[in-house]
Amino acid sequence: MSKVVVIGGGASGLVAAIEASNQHEVILLEKNDKCGKKILLTGNGKCNYWNHDMNISNYNTDNIEALNSIISKNNQKEVLTFLEKIGIYPKIKNNYYYPYSNQATSVRTLLLNEIERKNIKVIYNFEVERIIKNSTGFIVKSDCEEIACDKVILAAGSKACPKTGSDGSGYDLALSLGHTLNLVTPSLTPLKGEETYFKEWSGVRCDSKLTLFIDNEKVSEEIGEIQLTDYGISGICTFNISGLATKGLEQKKRVTVHIQFLPFLTTSFYDWFTRRDEEIPNHTIEELLESLLPYKLMFVLLKKANVNREDEWKLLPESKMRSLASMVEAFELEITGYLSFDKAQVATGGISLSEINPNTMESLVIPNLYLVGELLDVDGKCGGFNLAFAFISGYLAGRGI
Ligand SMILES: Cc1cc2nc3c(=O)[nH]c(=O)nc-3n(C[C@H](O)[C@H](O)[C@H](O)COP(=O)(O)OP(=O)(O)OC[C@H]3O[C@@H](n4cnc5c(N)ncnc54)[C@H](O)[C@@H]3O)c2cc1C
Repeated sequence: MSKVVVIGGGASGLVAAIEASNQHEVILLEKNDKCGKKILLTGNGKCNYWNHDMNISNYNTDNIEALNSIISKNNQKEVLTFLEKIGIYPKIKNNYYYPYSNQATSVRTLLLNEIERKNIKVIYNFEVERIIKNSTGFIVKSDCEEIACDKVILAAGSKACPKTGSDGSGYDLALSLGHTLNLVTPSLTPLKGEETYFKEWSGVRCDSKLTLFIDNEKVSEEIGEIQLTDYGISGICTFNISGLATKGLEQKKRVTVHIQFLPFLTTSFYDWFTRRDEEIPNHTIEELLESLLPYKLMFVLLKKANVNREDEWKLLPESKMRSLASMVEAFELEITGYLSFDKAQVATGGISLSEINPNTMESLVIPNLYLVGELLDVDGKCGGFNLAFAFISGYLAGRGI
């Protein structure tokens, strides 16, 4: 039996501690006066903790092979069984898993109950400032206390949503032990631009297809709801492309988004609208667009295309027809910024996954050190992928130790 210290009482650390306690003495150190603060905020308070389709394409990472092995079908099965065995009964909606109660607090409570049941010692208000490796193991230090142990699981999270405790100190601890930190930027966050028309479209929610271009190269595409705001764009679709966008901006690249406001179209807007105009004759352009676009958005698009809403489509000069078509199907938005870590749900980038043994989450740099959760260079789209990775990686470390 070894003495194991787990640093961080979030989703990954709680699971790691529970699993490691099957064979070892475990001490969990949490800088807050409570564990799992972030869990309570997830899924708008409902905790979307898993996804039925855990395909690798839902993640960003620096090592796809290692991630594939971590989230293997077998590991998924084991961790889902683990979650059910501690008492989480799932409700599955469009592939998204929630606790049946629809309460994030249920997930935190059940994890904490298990911590208590396993007699795991939790020390609150213990902010780890240093980890020292010595010949027998590790010394884990706060500003006034220190604990000697054989093995350490570092589960201190990223720097997204720092009010929950994850302020990036985990990166410093891993760096001090010789690990590599890949560029960290916010993800699952709104994107900003500098256009004057933002005030006019603010408040609109609509279905669309977003295509992200970095230095004019297409890198990602998402279909779903977006929100048009007074600073730019938000909503799940925006969140899912935001990690690549924030990275591009930090690397001083040109970041643009093309918005197709009628994503159901299978032909060009020009052809489709011309047919629509023939099928519904004697209608103004506004009448033809009436049931397709919210007014605020329609008026911005017409203004930018320099088209009068009372005009008739067939009487427009070709150039204006083409201009309106491009506004509707490939509206170009220059992205110049993003809402920062305070508003972001996760961080993209982190400690390189290439420095981790994917079977056990043990460091390939320092033996007996394990790294798990969002601290690592793994982040997922909206839909439960991030908590699922936190749970699986925590479980593998606890089991592997
Ligand atoms: C608003 C919001 C909504 C989200 N919704 C979802 C969702 O619906 N589905 C989903 O899958 N994901 C969601 N996420 C992301 C998900 O919550 C995280 O990816 C996941 O919780 C990460 O778990 P973790 O254990 O790696 O880190 P964290 O949960 O951040 O835990 C890290 C813990 O370590 C502690 N700590 C940090 N540094 C130290 C230190 N030096 N010493 C001691 N303790 C320390 C922190 O206080 C914290 O308790 C959401 C995130 C946010 C912010």
